[in-house]
Amino acid sequence: MDVAKEKARLELMVKSLLERIETNQRIQQHFHAFETRLLACARLQDLLQLIFEDMVQHFELADIGVVLVDSDYTIRDMLERMELPDYDNRLQLRHSDDFALSLYSHKPEVTLGELDTLASTRLFPNSNSVSSAALLPLLRNQQLTGSVHFASASKVRFSSEKSTDFMQHLASIMAVCLENCLAREHLNFQSQMDMLTQVRNRRSFEEEFAKEMERAERADDPVSCMFIDVDHFKKINDQYGHQAGDLCLKQVASTINEQLRKTDVLARYGGEEFVVLLPKCQQDSAKVIAERVRSAVAHLEVVSDAEKLMRPTVSIGLTTWQSVGERSRDLIHVGERLLNCADEAMYQAKKGGRDQVVVKPFCQVV
Ligand code: GH3
Ligand code: MG
Ligand code: MG
Repeated sequence: MDVAKEKARLELMVKSLLERIETNQRIQQHFHAFETRLLACARLQDLLQLIFEDMVQHFELADIGVVLVDSDYTIRDMLERMELPDYDNRLQLRHSDDFALSLYSHKPEVTLGELDTLASTRLFPNSNSVSSAALLPLLRNQQLTGSVHFASASKVRFSSEKSTDFMQHLASIMAVCLENCLAREHLNFQSQMDMLTQVRNRRSFEEEFAKEMERAERADDPVSCMFIDVDHFKKINDQYGHQAGDLCLKQVASTINEQLRKTDVLARYGGEEFVVLLPKCQQDSAKVIAERVRSAVAHLEVVSDAEKLMRPTVSIGLTTWQSVGERSRDLIHVGERLLNCADEAMYQAKKGGRDQVVVKPFCQVV
């Protein structure tokens, strides 16, 4: 045996092994640095921004796509309420896990490979230079909760023979981070909702109301406010029972909601009272909306569990406030007056015979 040759061969092997270890360490540090940032995100908004903006740069990607399974539409509702950017449609919600499952032919595990044009346009509709991709399944208790997709313009970047250990780890960190932020956001969302009617509760309304008044004053926009009270609701309870009354309230709330714009704010203000804020809405248009709400409820037929038919009606008071250029010294007082005027108008509607809309001009002083 040529000892010198064998020594040189072994030295070369050790050198190459050391190089591989060093490279792996560098990759590990690179992944670790980003994982720490992912784990530090407390808010969904921050996490999504980190994924869609910083992650692309950190990993030098051509694009990133995220699919989340949203079987009961809670994520959709939350995102709508949060008014997040649309991230150029790079965040997709799917009602079932079929789409995500179809990406992983055998079982959901990190998959690397070249992408054909069809798959590329499906996964990365905004990028036309994708040559290879890494698909990272998001798993929770072995259930697929979503999928993250990394795109590269290079064919070899995500070639199928490469190791997936780091990606696997990153996928589990991303799954945990997304789940945590979504759960936190969901809790926050639920705390703003009225449990029975699934519209905003009063506390959440008051927060939105204060924000909207400030915004309207800055922009010199009108704000209309409706007070809605279910007529003779006590009778409904007495006649059909409290449970039937609850059902009636739920359906009245969703009927009102159906008549509103996305930007309007509907809340349950108290027992059988609702309040609606109509931003950027002049009195004339607000009156049309109020009349539409009244009519929709008057046409509502609620059938109780005992198959009794209930026909609720509502009385509506409406007031519009128009900021007139000068800055109000006491916006809180203006807000209170707006609500009071609408409430007073609602009582006039009651006096006038119920099932009607009464408009009352805004008056600053009592
Ligand atoms: P009006 O037309 O003058 O508004 O008469 P009303 O009977 O609607 O008004 P009143 O204030 O006398 O009664 C409101 C009733 O609403 C009394 C209360 O028990 C009932 N109520 C309040 N909250 C709920 C609820 O969550 N579920 C049910 N079923 N009833 C409720
Ligand atoms: Mg009432
Ligand atoms: Mg009532």
